[in-house]
Amino acid sequence: MTRQRYSIWSLARHALRGHRDWLPAWRTPTPKSSYDVIVIGGGGHGLATAYFLAKTHGIRNVAVLERDWIGGGNSGRNTQVVRSNYFYKASVDFFEHSLKLYENLSRELNFNVMLSQRGIMTLAHSRHDLEMTRRWANAIQMNGVDSEILTREGVKRVEPLINLDARFPIHGGFIQRRGGIVRHDAVNWGFARAADALGVDIIQNCPVSGFESRAGRVTGVATAHGVLRADRFVLNVAGHSSVLAQRAGFRLPITSMALQAMVTEPVKPMLNSVVMSPAVHVYTSQSDRGEIVIGGAADVYSSYAQRGSLAVIEDFIAAAVELFPALARLKLMRHWAGIVDISPDTSPIMGKTPVENLYINCGWGTGGFKAIPAGGDTMAHTVANDRPHPLIAPFALDRFERGALIDEGAAAGVAH
Ligand SMILES: Cc1cc2nc3c(=O)[nH]c(=O)nc-3n(C[C@H](O)[C@H](O)[C@H](O)COP(=O)(O)OP(=O)(O)OC[C@H]3O[C@@H](n4cnc5c(N)ncnc54)[C@H](O)[C@@H]3O)c2cc1C
Repeated sequence: MTRQRYSIWSLARHALRGHRDWLPAWRTPTPKSSYDVIVIGGGGHGLATAYFLAKTHGIRNVAVLERDWIGGGNSGRNTQVVRSNYFYKASVDFFEHSLKLYENLSRELNFNVMLSQRGIMTLAHSRHDLEMTRRWANAIQMNGVDSEILTREGVKRVEPLINLDARFPIHGGFIQRRGGIVRHDAVNWGFARAADALGVDIIQNCPVSGFESRAGRVTGVATAHGVLRADRFVLNVAGHSSVLAQRAGFRLPITSMALQAMVTEPVKPMLNSVVMSPAVHVYTSQSDRGEIVIGGAADVYSSYAQRGSLAVIEDFIAAAVELFPALARLKLMRHWAGIVDISPDTSPIMGKTPVENLYINCGWGTGGFKAIPAGGDTMAHTVANDRPHPLIAPFALDRFERGALIDEGAAAGVAH
């Protein structure tokens, strides 16, 4: 195991030695032929699940099989927003658990995940929008989570550079002050390092191409290293969930599509919070490096099919510049996309599957980064006890048969 504690003292010690003898943050092990649990997919959720299996449940004979490199999927491509301001109780309870875990995550993992609770402000652009915003903010409060209604002037106090009289004038909004951003790479690397230190094998460049089954159970997964066996398997492959589920013998109600984001060149501090506008379809924040991060809806609209994916970028930028005219002076520096998997009620799917010893965590759509600590914690509990953790019981796959949907389409913000 390669665990070394990070601290001001270790930093000073290594500085004196010219930073030449830092150990790798995790090993590159040769896979064993069998494990207690195999987690397929080394994104944040897969890594966090492996970590909590080892830490909380003492199940350390665990492998995470990652097709490319850890965090190379959506967990390293997102816009880093964390919040718990959802509408329904089941969602608020789950996402609030996640935000609380984030609040202590740097300490838990001994890795600075750079949580910045700068507040997330949602804008209302009409009187009707404001009414819906009030209803949303009240629901959050009734579920025991902080949220504050803002007047027009209140919005301006949070963001002095905002244009209140844009094409769709701003009537007010609400803010969750504990929301904010977390450095995404640090979350992936922090969980990987901590899981590795507890004995978890992280195997990169190891795509799973299929399953071996007997009597309704998965016995092994096919990989370039041959068939790797385990007692239990967790499918954690956002964007590729439908493909692998089908290979395992069941179907998912998932649509996979691209979600894009971009950053400008870095500038001095100009945004104080994360600003989200469901009406003009954009959200923006400023990274710790000074770049303005801009995101919006997935490539869902039929007009994009005709106008192409670059039209999405045009729409995001037009909306961002309307809200903050000063952004018009900046150059775009990078632009990218990830493939997200969206369920019919825009809520995740977590828990057991029709295959006895195969568990699933998917359907995060555009909002699963904020859920990584709680996703890992609750999925590990579910796998260890073969029983859904109470916080994720409402998100079971069979809710689509029972009609027990958790429709978070609106509270998903701008993104679906
Ligand atoms: C542009 C963008 C912006 C976003 N912004 C936010 C945000 O601000 N806040 C938020 O909460 N969420 C956001 N999200 C969503 C969030 O990033 C995802 O919901 C979350 O990262 C999902 O984590 P995951 O571990 O389930 O999936 P991923 O991180 O995608 O991990 C899945 C892994 O599975 C691997 N894999 C796939 N197939 C196989 C296979 N056959 N064998 C082995 N491995 C395989 C992939 O390589 C990948 O590494 C955003 C997403 C995008 C794309």
